[in-house]
Amino acid sequence: MIIWSSLSKLEKKTALSRPAMANSQQLKQTVGDIIASVESKGDAAVIDFTRKFDYPDLQSLVLSQENIDTLASSVTAEVAGAIDIAFNNIKAFHDAQLPSDIALTTTPGVNCELRFTPLDAVGLYIPGGSAPLPSTVLMLGVPALVAGCDNKLLCTPPNKQGLIAPEIAYAARKCGIEAIYLCGGAQAIAAMALGTDTIPQVDKIFGPGNSFVTEAKQQVSLRADGAAIDMPAGPSEVLVLADEFADAEFVASDLLSQAEHGPDSQAILVSNSEALIESAKAAVERQLSTLSRADIARPAMENARYILADSIDDAILVSNAYAPEHLIVQIEDARSLLPKIKYAGSIFLGPWSPESAGDYASGTNHVLPTYGYAKNYSSLGLLDFMRRYTIQELSADGMRNLGPAIMALASAEGLDAHEQAVALRMQKLANANDKG
Ligand code: NAD
Repeated sequence: MIIWSSLSKLEKKTALSRPAMANSQQLKQTVGDIIASVESKGDAAVIDFTRKFDYPDLQSLVLSQENIDTLASSVTAEVAGAIDIAFNNIKAFHDAQLPSDIALTTTPGVNCELRFTPLDAVGLYIPGGSAPLPSTVLMLGVPALVAGCDNKLLCTPPNKQGLIAPEIAYAARKCGIEAIYLCGGAQAIAAMALGTDTIPQVDKIFGPGNSFVTEAKQQVSLRADGAAIDMPAGPSEVLVLADEFADAEFVASDLLSQAEHGPDSQAILVSNSEALIESAKAAVERQLSTLSRADIARPAMENARYILADSIDDAILVSNAYAPEHLIVQIEDARSLLPKIKYAGSIFLGPWSPESAGDYASGTNHVLPTYGYAKNYSSLGLLDFMRRYTIQELSADGMRNLGPAIMALASAEGLDAHEQAVALRMQKLANANDKG
């Protein structure tokens, strides 16, 4: 247990440090080589890498519509029903985010508009690995559907059967995803960013993945001919704020549900109650022994931090300094603390709001800024699948009214052509007036 008030400034910083992100020179080189290979050889390179890393017998990158339908219809009624509920909630919450265009007269005769339009082509990356991730398909696919993106494609590595999990096919079909490609890693990101004969180039790439995927997203986003990306990604994390009234078993279960994501996941408990911290630690040990993914959660919990703060206000300061991806507040009257909470990707209020609710089905998006980016990035939302642009229209009166100010500013900046573009029009209006 860490006693916060006893730490120096440097020790506090160390106590809240994240596990190092993999960004070694070796990783950069490997990913750079894969991108270069996809750029020069296209589909052949994507197929070769997929055969090497995922499925040696791959014949085609395209998962046929027939395969998608067969897989989707093999999902059990129970799981299909659960996906349907999650889909409806996520859709309702993202429907509510649809922005309104703005039209405003700023000066008489000067009309300005702000309009929103969906991105045309989006690439959704769904990681492979041991667990199928229909929830991530929904978190990316539903906002793309609601935004109205015309071309939604999904890349995911093929499994041992050369296919994808039925749950992914079912969720993708619900989201109206037009095409599914059987490839993963840096080669999938490169293919979506640069385009191949089979995989169309997209405007923006979304989704989590391992260090190869993350590094590839970063590299393609720096290229002028590449694609935009959703947000920088690091290992997932939770911070739980709890007082003496919190249920220690609930607290432990929230810490562990984070820890089972991966050995580099981070779980932090901050409380003003030593008794709660000790009970939560004991509950973690008890629950760990029952988990099927204990081998993943245990190393993550070895890096867990248990921090004792002098007061709830001090505990919130710790949370604000860390800026967690997920913040769970198990404190009496949790809602009253919201004004003091400055930074978090998503906040879960009270004992009945576990992270699992937001991860799967409440309706909020589970793609959130990690690694302290909650200070300057937002959770994924509908607007990430849209872009906004402006329109302006000046009438003759508008030009008369605003022209002098524009010319004065252009002159102050020494931009003669700008000044002249207005002066010529003002002159024409003056001539017309004289004639009239
Ligand atoms: P992945 O799809 O991210 O990566 C698989 C790909 O990695 C393979 O297709 C292959 O191309 C590439 N790869 C593997 N070894 C390689 C090598 N030696 N050289 C080059 N490329 C190589 O699947 P994964 O590996 O199972 O990782 C899943 C990741 O997604 C985990 O890091 C997990 O934490 C993360 N995740 C995040 C969320 C979230 O919402 N934040 C959810 C689920 C999973």
